[in-house]
Amino acid sequence: MTAQWQTELADAVRDPAELLRMLELDPALLAAARAAGRRFPLRVPRAFIARMRKGDPADPLLRQVLPLAAELESPGGFSHDPVGDLASRAAPGVLHKYHGRVLLITTGACGVHCRYCFRRHFPYADESARQADWHAALEYLRTNASVHEVILSGGDPLSLNDRTLAHLASALEQIPHITRLRIHTRQPIVLPSRVNSALLAWLKKCHLQKIVVLHVNHAHELDAAVIAALSRLRAVGLTLLNQSVLLRGVNDSVAELAALSEALFAAGVMPYYLNLLDRVQGAAHFEVSEEQACILIQGLRARLPGYLVPRLVREIPGAASKVPLMDMPARASTSNTL
Ligand SMILES: *Cc1c(COP(=O)(O)O)cnc(C)c1O
Ligand code: SF4
Repeated sequence: MTAQWQTELADAVRDPAELLRMLELDPALLAAARAAGRRFPLRVPRAFIARMRKGDPADPLLRQVLPLAAELESPGGFSHDPVGDLASRAAPGVLHKYHGRVLLITTGACGVHCRYCFRRHFPYADESARQADWHAALEYLRTNASVHEVILSGGDPLSLNDRTLAHLASALEQIPHITRLRIHTRQPIVLPSRVNSALLAWLKKCHLQKIVVLHVNHAHELDAAVIAALSRLRAVGLTLLNQSVLLRGVNDSVAELAALSEALFAAGVMPYYLNLLDRVQGAAHFEVSEEQACILIQGLRARLPGYLVPRLVREIPGAASKVPLMDMPARASTSNTL
């Protein structure tokens, strides 16, 4: 049987002409959208489009999904695998970079295509942990007793159906040293109907500690339907965290970041990470400098309680964790006296 969310997913807008028409935008944007969309296609659910302002090409939600000519530029320093994912591959679709936790690439599919996505060039066809009923991934986890947390990622793990996910969760539960299940997903945000009774049923049944790390970049992404979906997740005992990407033209102001933290907390979600953009080819126009990022975080600290200030981090290939940014990188690197 097809669930409501699957129908909505199949009905997502993929034609830039339709998106421009729905938002009453200038058809002159179409040629570039088609050209850039050939490299990484447009995909956006109608529930997400409904939160965009009509007639505003600078809308912060639209900017996350509309292909632009700037994506076709290829400035130096922007690559296809900016975070060294392929080097940390422990088994097919299994990334083991950090102590105690392992990330599973469960699927390449996402409900939305974010233009800045660092996995836009990832070879998903060869690299899903789902092959042969998760066999190699489960075998790796069983034989590595230092792993206590499994992170379902992708793509978006909640684009898999609940039968598949429930089956995986119960296999993970049977591994004694696994105590936590973490799900990295944007699906409850772009497609809140995904949080349905079938999803809640297997989550409730699974006795691992469960954490959902959402991906919200702007307060406008949280409308009434999303807030209701998040409260359904909390009601079955999940801890909700959020990670954002700092994006030029989307959330690069103290006012927008503060509004985002406040809106998240009001919806029962704790801010977790604010990621600097991974330098993936096609996303250079979204980059905010490290110095500017530090200034924004200082502005946030001056304005919000400490628990609403996300950790500003960047991913460096080979590092033992996500790497926090210091307050004033310029001064810290030049002063060697106390
Ligand atoms: C980001 C990431 C994690 C999670 O890191 P946390 O700091 O625990 O949130 C784990 N594994 C991989 C491969 C990652 O990229
Ligand atoms: S939802 Fe996440 S993985 Fe999917 S396109 Fe957006 S940023 Fe990339």
